[in-house]
Amino acid sequence: MNLIFATHNNHKLKEIQDIVSQATSHTISSLTDLDLHEPIPETGVTLEENALIKARFVWQHFGKSCFSDDTGLEVDALGGAPGVWSARYAGEGCSYSDNVNLLLRNMAGISNRKARFRTVIALIIDGHEYLFDGVVEGSILIEPTGEGGFGYDPVFLPDGFHESFAEMTSVVKNSISHRGRAMGQLISFLTTLK
Ligand code: IMP
Repeated sequence: MNLIFATHNNHKLKEIQDIVSQATSHTISSLTDLDLHEPIPETGVTLEENALIKARFVWQHFGKSCFSDDTGLEVDALGGAPGVWSARYAGEGCSYSDNVNLLLRNMAGISNRKARFRTVIALIIDGHEYLFDGVVEGSILIEPTGEGGFGYDPVFLPDGFHESFAEMTSVVKNSISHRGRAMGQLISFLTTLK
């Protein structure tokens, strides 16, 4: 089966194509392959709502089976922020490093650095909707460490590891990450389909 992944983020597309191609014979295309270059507005206030908004947009406009994901970094000492606003934490159009710098400023002097990434995936196959989620617990580092990955990877230390997400190979990150876990659930489900 070919599924459309409702994203414009090439980092995430490649991560997910790697995971899916290792585990199944399904292929993944992107919004670019549909010639859709505009972002789909994410107007929800939860990860579930945003994931569904994006998947429903593709299903309604293109009639293609598809999935979308929405991820948030939830920091306990910040009351769960940046959460659903993780992409726009430092403002509309901000860069990954703007977000990381703001997060570190807001965490200055705070000793409780517990945080988690959470991913929700919404899948629509022939109009039927399914939700999957994945979580990885960890903590926020004092300063960015590592060159790989994207987003908040340089400041996220997953529990039980001594390397930030940005210091890990994509294979190791995918095996423990929020998105890897949510994708694991998606893949298990897809393998039950003919
Ligand atoms: P999205 O919903 O997947 O677009 O994620 C929202 C924001 O969370 C992104 O813009 C990134 O800043 C951050 N993010 C998502 N996934 C990851 C990840 O695997 N590592 C680090 N940051 C991430």
